[in-house]
Amino acid sequence: MLTNDQLSQWDRENFFHPSTHLAQHARGETPTRVITGGEGVFIEDRDGNRLLDAFAGLYCVNVGYGRTEIQEAIAAQAKELAYYHAYVGHGTEASITLSKMVLDRAPKNMSKVYFGLGGSDANETNIKLVWYYNNILGRPEKKKILSRWRGYHGSGLMTGSLTGLEVFHKKFDLPLPMVKHTIAPDYFRREDRSQSEAQFVAHCVSELEALIEREGPDTIAAFIGEPVLGTGGLVPPPAGYWEAIQTVLKKHDILMIADEVVTGFGRLGTMFGSDHYGIESDIITIAKGLTSAYAPLSGSIISDKVWKVLEQGTDENGAIGHGWTYSAHPIGAAAGVANLKLIDSMGLVENAGTMGSYFREAMRDAVGDHAHVGDVRGEGMLCAVELVEDKTDRAFYDPSKKIGPQLAAALLKRKVIGRAMPQADIIGFAPPLCLSKSEADTVV
Ligand code: PLP
Repeated sequence: MLTNDQLSQWDRENFFHPSTHLAQHARGETPTRVITGGEGVFIEDRDGNRLLDAFAGLYCVNVGYGRTEIQEAIAAQAKELAYYHAYVGHGTEASITLSKMVLDRAPKNMSKVYFGLGGSDANETNIKLVWYYNNILGRPEKKKILSRWRGYHGSGLMTGSLTGLEVFHKKFDLPLPMVKHTIAPDYFRREDRSQSEAQFVAHCVSELEALIEREGPDTIAAFIGEPVLGTGGLVPPPAGYWEAIQTVLKKHDILMIADEVVTGFGRLGTMFGSDHYGIESDIITIAKGLTSAYAPLSGSIISDKVWKVLEQGTDENGAIGHGWTYSAHPIGAAAGVANLKLIDSMGLVENAGTMGSYFREAMRDAVGDHAHVGDVRGEGMLCAVELVEDKTDRAFYDPSKKIGPQLAAALLKRKVIGRAMPQADIIGFAPPLCLSKSEADTVV
């Protein structure tokens, strides 16, 4: 077996890690962490540490680590047939079954699911389909996409543009010009503190209306949003937000894409975030919770309305020119089928709702009154603690103090993983949906 020193050296010399300070890591200023195993909400590293992973990897290991049902399904699929493509009507029992299982769980107006690999490529697919849709409908100028500051939709060229966080744009020449951002629905951080929640929603709507007027409604194809802002700080929308936003979108014939990469398959205590907030989507993005990250798989769930136009498009133009080698990969599909069965049999959607509320309330009771805690918030199995330098005026800390990362490091010393979110000083928790009461208490 390789020594830790050897692995650390090879890591620094060879491995380009995502979302990492490359120079510091190459200089050995940040440690190499080799993760060796996991069970339930815990992971283990090579140094023998057992850590309570209160962020479920990257909020994706929803059923928890080490589930034999999924491991065995993957092994069986690999033994039977590790790969065949899904072009021109090909499939496996797993991929066809999974498409039915996804549609059975999706909102009623949904018609088909296209399978990809991860959340970013699924959102790239969505934008291409929206463009195709408008071309088939004879409105080639209707192409711009609206997103929100602090939204996260991936880090490809288009999806990195949709993402509304500066770190994903800086020095990459993003966002692309066809993407326009509107304000984040963060009531805690509203500019005008005198606004009630309803007034703030009206403000979000008028900002959106103004953007649409500026750009021209006939140039705007779609709006993309996460039901609850995720990487931008785990921010649930103010009451009535989605209803009000959708009224505007419908008025201007703008498609709604609900990015449910985090919220899909139970995290909010409902199967989808769209169910939770009454969002009537035209397209829904799924990934993470679809397989609980046991294998890479994502999806674009397409509504009847969009699907009919896609069919028309292929009648007029021939087969659709879109597909990945690994679309509906058999191993991902087998993992997905076993995972969705496990979510049902373990009652994880319900647990995300009840245990998530317990966890958040316990967190609020424990730290809500602290002089440097501005907000404790979340929905379902999501909880964020936002730190402030001064509670009265909600002042941000000087970013150079790196309070969020410091707190995450302090948590790690106590063997709990929380995530310092890229936005301000927010510590995020998104544990596996199987979190128990005693595990919630440990995190608190
Ligand atoms: N959409 C949302 C809401 C996400 O949170 C993420 C990843 O965190 C993505 C898309 C991108 O997914 P991936 O990292 O699998 O490309």
